Amino acid sequence: MKLWNNYHTPHSIDEALTLLNQYQGKARVVAGGTDLMVELREGHRPVQDALIDITMIPELTTLAPTDDEIYIGAGVTHTQLVKSPLLAALATCLVESCGVVGGPQVRNVGTLGGNVAHALPAGDGTTSLVALDAQADIVMDGQRRVVPILEMYRGPGQSLIDSTHDLIIGFRFALCAEREATAFKRIMRPQGVALPILGCATWVRLNPAKTHFEATRLSIAPIGPTPARATEVEAVLTGQPANDATIESAIDTAVKILKPRTSKYRATGEYRREMIAVLLRRTLQLAVQRAQTGQAVPEGIGIE
Ligand SMILES: Cc1cc2nc3c(=O)[nH]c(=O)nc-3n(C[C@H](O)[C@H](O)[C@H](O)COP(=O)(O)OP(=O)(O)OC[C@H]3O[C@@H](n4cnc5c(N)ncnc54)[C@H](O)[C@@H]3O)c2cc1C
Repeated sequence: MKLWNNYHTPHSIDEALTLLNQYQGKARVVAGGTDLMVELREGHRPVQDALIDITMIPELTTLAPTDDEIYIGAGVTHTQLVKSPLLAALATCLVESCGVVGGPQVRNVGTLGGNVAHALPAGDGTTSLVALDAQADIVMDGQRRVVPILEMYRGPGQSLIDSTHDLIIGFRFALCAEREATAFKRIMRPQGVALPILGCATWVRLNPAKTHFEATRLSIAPIGPTPARATEVEAVLTGQPANDATIESAIDTAVKILKPRTSKYRATGEYRREMIAVLLRRTLQLAVQRAQTGQAVPEGIGIE
């Protein structure tokens, strides 16, 4: 059975938007297709009049530093991200999260924009973009806008944007400076279910003496229907010594206030709660060590 009638590969944002406009909601953006093709094949989406492939649009496939920020086009693949030495050193959590998405075949075509547009609260790329406090460049209702990453989600699988009309162009965030570092870890079932039991990305900034937490951003998912920062846990860390005692008190708070739900495919809420402690401990210790030494080598990423 045909899953779409026409396939377009526009070479500019304007061309892509014109095509989406012409099809009046009956065409859909496709990037790597690793989520979309499964949905079309399983009948979760109707047969499309057209698919609009965004992977030939230069602005969507660029990965470039701009001053102290980095810009990542929405069509950049997980593999491209993992191979960037700049990201490995200065946005390590993103490399660690994109480096464990699926297997090599999925990472070679699956994109960061697709991960965000699919809008699942535990998308691995999403989890790290939240810790990095990323902004998304989008075109929505014909207007170009910049929105904080957390505003991109409306519910499980529900994005702020409508991929039959709108586009994610790319993401930007500040790279880690001196005294800052990140880390990502996740717990995953081995048999290749597409999302983790739990993922955790951590960003820390230490004080000038590198002895205390000056600021942190913690992204643990899935906890609720949309991604979120664990701000009450962050508050426990701020201004405190960057040591195991502080980390344990942050974990105590996290385990008390965060209430992950039970998923019949992945794990019970109770197990996930226990794993919050494990992942927070590992990522905070690692991020502190990276910030103190100024050395960050991504761990656990898939080999191509
Ligand atoms: C076997 C397998 C394993 C997987 N493992 C993981 C995993 O471990 N962790 C994880 O997080 N995910 C996993 N996934 C899910 C998927 O691979 C990722 O979410 C991937 O990043 C999706 O990107 P894509 O380019 O393939 O998106 P697509 O499938 O092309 O698109 C997904 C959705 O986003 C929309 N879209 C895509 N790009 C844009 C854009 N620029 N603007 C507007 N809308 C857009 C599409 O219309 C569609 O609705 C797995 C998938 C498979 C099949």
